Amino acid sequence: MTKQILLSTPHMGDLEQKFVQEAFDTNWIAPVGPHVDAFEQEFCQVVGAKHAAAVSSGTAALHLALELAGIQPGDEVFCSTLTFIASASPITYLKAKPVFIDSDRTTWNIDPNLLREALEKRAKIGKLPKAVVIVHLYGQSADIDPILAACSEYEVPLIEDAAESLGATYKGKSPGIFGKIGIFSFNGNKIITTSGGGMLVSDDENIVARARFLATQARDNAPHYQHSVVGYNYRLSNVLAGIGRGQLRVLEARVNARRHNCEVYQQALGKLPGIEFMPEADFGRATRWLTCLTIDQAAFGVDREQVRLTLAKQKIEARPVWKPLHLQPVFAECEVIGGAIAEDLFDRGLCLPSGSNLTAEDLQRVTQAIAEIYTG
Ligand SMILES: *Cc1c(COP(=O)(O)O)cnc(C)c1O
Repeated sequence: MTKQILLSTPHMGDLEQKFVQEAFDTNWIAPVGPHVDAFEQEFCQVVGAKHAAAVSSGTAALHLALELAGIQPGDEVFCSTLTFIASASPITYLKAKPVFIDSDRTTWNIDPNLLREALEKRAKIGKLPKAVVIVHLYGQSADIDPILAACSEYEVPLIEDAAESLGATYKGKSPGIFGKIGIFSFNGNKIITTSGGGMLVSDDENIVARARFLATQARDNAPHYQHSVVGYNYRLSNVLAGIGRGQLRVLEARVNARRHNCEVYQQALGKLPGIEFMPEADFGRATRWLTCLTIDQAAFGVDREQVRLTLAKQKIEARPVWKPLHLQPVFAECEVIGGAIAEDLFDRGLCLPSGSNLTAEDLQRVTQAIAEIYTG
């Protein structure tokens, strides 16, 4: 039987079970406990954040981030369009309206010039958005400096969705720590995983304290259960934080393995006509969380979808690049600024199997399969 090669699967290290066993031995299964505190501290050290709150998912972290940025019903929030829906769904949880912004071709992330122009236009008519959510896509940081400069100039808080880019760098630092609030994800397909989980980071201690408060049902300081605002049940469990502590220790190895996958793909396929890899911007290190490429049908012979289906027949899971959010039926009524680049990347873009646990044979099966599809 041919083995199924999946897009991105969990890859445990040696210490996760020991940390989980510790949680069992001390009966610190729930609620929050020492692993949660340690995970937050160790995470801060890894990404260079001042404060962090561990929560149940990246989506939960972003929901809290937007609420803490003061987003109210009816507000507008700018958001990258080329991304997973979870970058924008928390905007709608707060009954605010996303306005989607296109990518640039060099990073595939939000176009800083387009963002600046949009803010300038909105400032002129007195309709600035209440926040900007940028995404660091597929393991690559957005071009943060010009984005931050534009947001500062118009005094719009920047929230960074770094769910896909733990381990990446921007000018030597981790994306996610530049804006008012950043979020990360430890979902099962991410570069490290707690099976499910997320982290909210900020340099502002009060914001992170408030995030913890809201994530634990917003209990006032009283012996009885008293609540002055409505909160959420969003905290990460001590057991899962134990997994996270083990995973953090192998992050560098996971980054190297994923970058290695990408190098193997590039060497084997980079010269095929019509194939272009997602560029790595020169301002930092991309983790290549997923190796992505575009396929130009005229040069390659067949289109992205045919490649994907042929791979699927050989038990190789590849996925189209994110469908831009402005094309999603649920966001049909939302405004979009630009959009053609994200649409093109979606039409032609493919994500290849990229797990840090792929073997040399797995990679060879994928590259050979794609090379055989070429009919240019
Ligand atoms: C995975 C992901 C999220 C959501 O994280 P979860 O932990 O799955 O809730 C948010 N944004 C992006 C860009 C993601 O890829």
